[in-house]
Amino acid sequence: LKHEIAPWVWHFDGPMGKNSDFKYDREKAAIIVLSRNTEVQDILYSMRQFEDRFNRNYHYPYIFLNDKPFTTKFMTLTSAATQSDVTYALIPKEHWDPPSFVDMNAVKVAHRQFKKEGVLYGDSMTYRQMIRFNSGFFYKHPLLADLDYYWRLEPNVDFYCDISYDLFKEMKAQNKTYAFVIFLKEMRNTIPTLWVNTLTYAKKYNVTSSLLRLFVDGSLDYNLCHFWSNFEVASLKWLKSEQYESFFQHLDRTGNFYYERWGDAPVHSLAAGLFLEKKDILFADDIGYRHDTFARWPRNTKSSTNSNYDSRIGNDVRCVIPKQIIDVNTIPSHNGRKNSAKSQS
Ligand code: GDP
Ligand code: MN
Repeated sequence: LKHEIAPWVWHFDGPMGKNSDFKYDREKAAIIVLSRNTEVQDILYSMRQFEDRFNRNYHYPYIFLNDKPFTTKFMTLTSAATQSDVTYALIPKEHWDPPSFVDMNAVKVAHRQFKKEGVLYGDSMTYRQMIRFNSGFFYKHPLLADLDYYWRLEPNVDFYCDISYDLFKEMKAQNKTYAFVIFLKEMRNTIPTLWVNTLTYAKKYNVTSSLLRLFVDGSLDYNLCHFWSNFEVASLKWLKSEQYESFFQHLDRTGNFYYERWGDAPVHSLAAGLFLEKKDILFADDIGYRHDTFARWPRNTKSSTNSNYDSRIGNDVRCVIPKQIIDVNTIPSHNGRKNSAKSQS
């Protein structure tokens, strides 16, 4: 280990990092990896792809985060997989542990029910800690304080093709806030009340949004579409904005990150729907990418926002911009789900 900055931060200077002869005017950006020690082989797999297809040209630094201290093995192997600077840090407990207002007995009962219904990660506590962390906390980590952009990298993903330009610079040049590669549908039973709570927020704060229509179906319900956040390149300024924070707090207070199983992907996407415009979103459709069993191949040679947000992955989960344009302001925000929304429209 090169040196220890604080009891919970280990830093390795890479040969092509900040203090090397490699001269490239990088954006203030980093690759953010949340990982468990047990996932080291899967992370190495992702890093190999990511370095070969993209980062070997730019040497953006990595920041690894974990709720438990990284092992020497994890740090030795992953820092050897890149020439960039690499930092490892612990997540503050208050960013990871369930908040005190959540009733753990009620959580247990709810999780049993989710499991019975066969919901993926239905009774997992750590999975919920992870998605809540990704929804409302990772960008508050002190190591990210001076950064403008992040690129989230997950274990066991593929990057199929060379990414021959600096995506961070492209984000900045095009003044983009959020970039995605796959747009697909969430499992409805993980987010029974996320949509209602999003509408309550929109009404309460009088949000007038044009992008939210991307997430609305013909019956004014949530169409379940979301940017798949295991790939995510975005502006930290946006996540740190008062708006985003107030939306996160509004959602968090319901306790439903725990009582239900709200994913960070639909949360980020609906926040984008509330606060961003289509021009702020970059569909990086020139990136070949796989996570789990979903993949996409590049269509164009250059990223564009002209194409439909069409991830070309199978009809059941594929999302496209709905033809029918819905005025978001006509969506009722009262307690109703689908049926009451229908009767109001
Ligand atoms: P999925 O993609 O939704 O199936 O979920 P993953 O298992 O891939 O988890 C998403 C990300 O969070 C991955 O980068 C995992 O390494 C990380 N992760 C999930 N659970 C934990 C956890 O309990 N601790 C830590 N440190 N990382 C976790
Ligand atoms: Mn994953």
